[in-house]
Amino acid sequence: MTDSITIALSKGRILDETLPLLKEAGIELVDDVKKSRKLVFPTTDPSVRILVLRATDVPTYVQYGGADLGVTGKDVLMEHGGEGLYEPLDLNISRCRLMTAGLKGQPTPPGRIRVATKFVNLARRYYAAQGRQADIIKLYGAMELAPILNLADEIVDIVDTGNTLKANGLEARELIEHISSRLVVNRTSMKMKHQGLNPIIEKMAAAVEKRKQS
Ligand code: AMP
Repeated sequence: MTDSITIALSKGRILDETLPLLKEAGIELVDDVKKSRKLVFPTTDPSVRILVLRATDVPTYVQYGGADLGVTGKDVLMEHGGEGLYEPLDLNISRCRLMTAGLKGQPTPPGRIRVATKFVNLARRYYAAQGRQADIIKLYGAMELAPILNLADEIVDIVDTGNTLKANGLEARELIEHISSRLVVNRTSMKMKHQGLNPIIEKMAAAVEKRKQS
């Protein structure tokens, strides 16, 4: 009997960029994700279904076996911690940088600082590793506002073109990590369903490699 396989994808940009890679692995959505309010989607492979989730929920679903495979950003994985997950493949998509940023021309004050971010675990580890004292303030969006309104001295956020920072009078400071989307696998599924999972992982790896060559 073929194992049924559930793949959790992050909605938005990562979903758009992952679907062509899955197609090369022989997995295509039957419905138009954009026109549907469904959360679980069948694919052209009857043994494979796709969940479309918030990026931050993908590692959690895969960790607890709600999904066997998942695709999400390295930023989200670093914040989650990666327990219960294998990370076999860098998909080389949705690339960006995780950076600290602050008001342009206004250096970070010495001593203890306030940092606003949605990546609280990651930020705590980063500032501790730098030997800097930081009070971390959790925000769920619009981090750029925090230094403007004096809520924080710095933010930790994703930077792609830098346009969002610039438009709000902020500048990037330190690079914390280069980010791209990763394929993650539930550790138990990797053992129990390797016959079904290995070909998908291998074909996706081949698709990533092919793109690098072209
Ligand atoms: P930018 O203005 O191009 O620097 O884009 C910055 C904003 O876009 C950030 O606030 C992020 O929320 C979002 N963003 C850009 N690239 C990504 C990505 N690869 N993954 C998640 N969010 C991103």
